Amino acid sequence: MDSLTAALRELLPHDAVITDPVRLRTYECDGLTYHRATPGVVVLPESAEQIAGVVRLCNETGVPFVARGSGTGLSGGALPREDGVLIVTSKMRRILEIDLPNRRAVVEPGVTNLAITEAVRDQGFYYAPDPSSQQVCSIGGNVAENSGGAHCLKHGFTVNHVEACEVVTPDGDIVVLDRMDPGYDLLGAFVGSEGTLGVATKVTVRLTRVPEAVTTVLAAYGTIEQGGEAVSAIIAAGIVPAAIEMMDALSIEAAEAAVRCAYPSGAGAVLIVELDGPRAEVTRQFARLLEICSGAFELRVADDPAERAAIWKGRKSAFAAVGRISPAYIVQDGVVPRTSLPQVLAAIDGLSREHGIRVANVFHAGDGNLHPLVLFDDAEPGAGERAEAVSGAILDLCIRHGGSITGEHGVGVDKAKHMPKMFSADDLDTMQLVRCAFDPRGLSNPGKVFPTPRLCGEVPGVRRGVHPLVESGKAEQF
Ligand SMILES: Cc1cc2nc3c(=O)[nH]c(=O)nc-3n(C[C@H](O)[C@H](O)[C@H](O)COP(=O)(O)OP(=O)(O)OC[C@H]3O[C@@H](n4cnc5c(N)ncnc54)[C@H](O)[C@@H]3O)c2cc1C
Repeated sequence: MDSLTAALRELLPHDAVITDPVRLRTYECDGLTYHRATPGVVVLPESAEQIAGVVRLCNETGVPFVARGSGTGLSGGALPREDGVLIVTSKMRRILEIDLPNRRAVVEPGVTNLAITEAVRDQGFYYAPDPSSQQVCSIGGNVAENSGGAHCLKHGFTVNHVEACEVVTPDGDIVVLDRMDPGYDLLGAFVGSEGTLGVATKVTVRLTRVPEAVTTVLAAYGTIEQGGEAVSAIIAAGIVPAAIEMMDALSIEAAEAAVRCAYPSGAGAVLIVELDGPRAEVTRQFARLLEICSGAFELRVADDPAERAAIWKGRKSAFAAVGRISPAYIVQDGVVPRTSLPQVLAAIDGLSREHGIRVANVFHAGDGNLHPLVLFDDAEPGAGERAEAVSGAILDLCIRHGGSITGEHGVGVDKAKHMPKMFSADDLDTMQLVRCAFDPRGLSNPGKVFPTPRLCGEVPGVRRGVHPLVESGKAEQF
C-alpha cells in the first residue's frame, strides 16, 4: 500500500489522496452502518483519466478498489477494503451537456439524482427515477444499484433511463457502453452490477417530459389488508398509476413524530396513489380510482404541488423517521408478487410477535417491493441478533412466495449470504463468468454480491474442502 500511495500522490493533486486515519473514518460505511471497515486509502479524482490512472496503479500492484458515490447505499455496496483504494466521485459533479431536442443529459457520476431534474425542470423536463434519497445520492450509485423509487412503477427503473455510460474498466481502459451498440447489451449488464464491473465516469440519462396533469390521492384504511385489496383492485382495473405507496400504522406513527405529516388518525394503513399523464386520461382514471377506493374511511386529493408535497412528506421521510421511535433499525428490501402482499404482511406480523421485535412496513405496493423496518434497541443484549433473525426470515418469506431478496437496494455485502437461497451453484458460477469477462483479476469491489468468490479460471463444480480464501480469512462461507 505504501508504494501505491506514493504513486497515487504523484498522479493526483495533493488534497485528492487521503491517508489521515481520522479522515479515512468518514468513509468507513455507507447507509448500512453495521458493516464498517476503514479504507486503506481514499482518492477524490476529478476526471475519468484520473480514475483510469488510479485503476491502472491498482492493477500493477494487485490492490482492490471500490467506487463510492454519496454513500447512501443500504446494502454495504460501498463498504471499503482495508487493503484497498476507495474511489470517491464527489468531486465529479458537473452536468456536461443538456440536449433537450433529443431528451438527454450527460452528467458526471457524482451529480446527485435531484440535480438533474433541477437543471431541466424550468424547461418542462425531469429525470424520472426518484429514490427517496434523491437529494443526496449520486447518479453513479443509482446506475450501480439500478435504483428505483416511488414513481418507477409506471416509468421504469434506472436501467430504463440510462442511454450510455463511459466506464473505466477494471484494467484501467476507458470505454463507452451505449444502448444503441449492436451485439450484447453490455450497458444492461453494467447497470445494477454494484461496482463489480468497473467505475462509471460519465452517464447519459434520458429526460422525461413533465406530465400535463398529476393527481395524488391519499386513502386511509382501517387495516393493511384492506389497503392491499385496494392495490390489487387498482391494478386489476387496468390502471397503471405513476406510484402506489403504502404505509402501516407503525410507520405512520414514526412519520407523524418526525415531520407532523397529519395523516388521518386511527389509520391502519395509508395508500398514496399518484396518477400522471395527459389530462383526459388522468381525469378518467381518477374517477375510476375514487370508485375503487370507496372503502377508505378518509380520502384526500391533491392537485397542486403544495398539496402533493404535504401528502408525500410522510412517505418520503419514513425511513429516517423511524429513528424517532426506535434507537436502531434494519431497513429490509424484498419483493413479492403483488397478489401475495396480504399473506406476506400477515406472516411478517407473525414473525414480529414471535420474536418480540416491532416491524414497520413502508412499501412500493404497486410492484410488491417491501421495505420492512425491523426495530430494535441496540443497548439490549441479544436484540440485534433477534432483529437480524426476523430480517432474514422476511427474505425467506419473499423467496417462498416467488419474490426476490432485493428490489432496489442491491445485494452488496449484506445479502451475499442469501444469494444461494435464490440461485443454484450453477447460476452463481454463470454470473461469475460475466464478472470474469470484465474483471478477470477480481479487483473491482471484491467481496460484494457473491457469497464466496470463486476465482476466475477455477473450474465450476461442487467445492470439497475449505476454499483457500476462506482459510486465509479473506472470504466467508455461508
Ligand atoms: C433515506 C434513504 C432512502 C433511500 N431510498 C431509496 C429508494 O427509494 N430507492 C432506491 O433504489 N434506493 C434508495 N436508497 C438507497 C440508495 O440511496 C441508493 O442505492 C443509491 O443509488 C446509492 O447511491 P450513492 O451515490 O449513495 O451510492 P453509494 O452508496 O456510494 O454506492 C452504492 C454502490 O454503487 C457503487 N458505485 C458508486 N458509484 C459508482 C460509480 N461511479 N461507478 C460504479 N459503481 C459505483 C458502489 O461501489 C456501491 O456498490 C435509499 C437510501 C437512504 C439512506
